Amino acid sequence: MKKFDAKNLVRKNCLSFEPYVAGKPIETLKRELGLKHIIKIASNENPLGPSKKAVKAMKNIADKVYFYPDFNSTELKTAIAKHYKLNINNVIVGCGSDELIEIIARLFFTPSDEIVISKHAFTRYQMAVKLMDAKEVVVPMKDGFVHDLKAMAKACNKNTKAVFITNPNNPTGTYNTAKEFEDFLKALPVNKFGTKPIVISDEAYYEYASYKKDFPNTIKLLQKYPNLIVLRTFSKIYAMAGARVGYGLSSPTIIDYIERIRPPFNVNKFAQAGAIASLQDKTQVTRSLNHVRKEFKFIFTELKKLGIKYVDSVGNFFLMSVAPFKGKEVFQKMLREGVIIRAMDEYQLYNYVRVTIGTRKENELFLKKIKKVLNK
Ligand SMILES: *Cc1c(COP(=O)(O)O)cnc(C)c1O
Repeated sequence: MKKFDAKNLVRKNCLSFEPYVAGKPIETLKRELGLKHIIKIASNENPLGPSKKAVKAMKNIADKVYFYPDFNSTELKTAIAKHYKLNINNVIVGCGSDELIEIIARLFFTPSDEIVISKHAFTRYQMAVKLMDAKEVVVPMKDGFVHDLKAMAKACNKNTKAVFITNPNNPTGTYNTAKEFEDFLKALPVNKFGTKPIVISDEAYYEYASYKKDFPNTIKLLQKYPNLIVLRTFSKIYAMAGARVGYGLSSPTIIDYIERIRPPFNVNKFAQAGAIASLQDKTQVTRSLNHVRKEFKFIFTELKKLGIKYVDSVGNFFLMSVAPFKGKEVFQKMLREGVIIRAMDEYQLYNYVRVTIGTRKENELFLKKIKKVLNK
């Protein structure tokens, strides 16, 4: 092949990107480590699995795969709108809410825009900001690993195009209350574009946090705050991470512009069918939420006995201190014990790991192994 380096052609802001490294498949690890049994409690997946109705709906259309999906996901959008008593023009769907984060960035962010993000928040926003060569403004958290919404509002100026909030936050499991959130919306200054900044409230774990009476009802706020975008997903409590489907709720004007740049057919046929069926299954949310709350009680009681520090969580995962050890070290040692968790270096939390709530059996195994690895 002729000498050719694509480097000179790549946009400068994209040169420092690294490929996303996902966890190794369980089967590969089993072979490499010579282990018979490995559990994965690393990606905030719901071990109870999806609604049976969703599985059936996806199976039922397998032989229709030769048809393109509905490019507009009309039936799914209608189901989501109905679920929240909104209109279809308030709804956008994406190949996971992850895709929507990137589409929002592509639509709105330019190099002269400032985007406000919290430290230790979900990392995908930084990537989206970098992709568009916009300026990221990182605000430290309050004590207890909570988004400091007052400081985030103060960090906004004439150049602020958008603010990202993860509520509840991944990886800390903490949340901002309804009062904090609405005070924040009110406090935002008008920017040089003559509007308030766009506020993206990423609520991937909303259903898990919904038992908290003071958790914000952002759907209600959409009327009053047309600059608000709420992101939710079928990947977490609905246990459809493999199907890739998430959605955004906002004012018709924001949805209209997002629709114009959304790739057609971005949500596949199976994801659309599975998501619609999931919404019809009222038991999916309650059984998963009940499981997680019960397991948190169990795990935290044990961790307290062992003197291990953790951050209380309203999600389906928690952040745990492994100090004086490094999270990376503990991740490796746990791997050799057959338990996959997550180190938190990419979140600058070097002495922490994040653990997803598994089945009772998985949680018991986790506790047994963490005790061994931390010499407790
Ligand atoms: C998992 C997660 C997402 C992405 O979810 P998908 O819909 O699967 O793309 C978005 N935000 C947060 C905070 C998450 O934890």
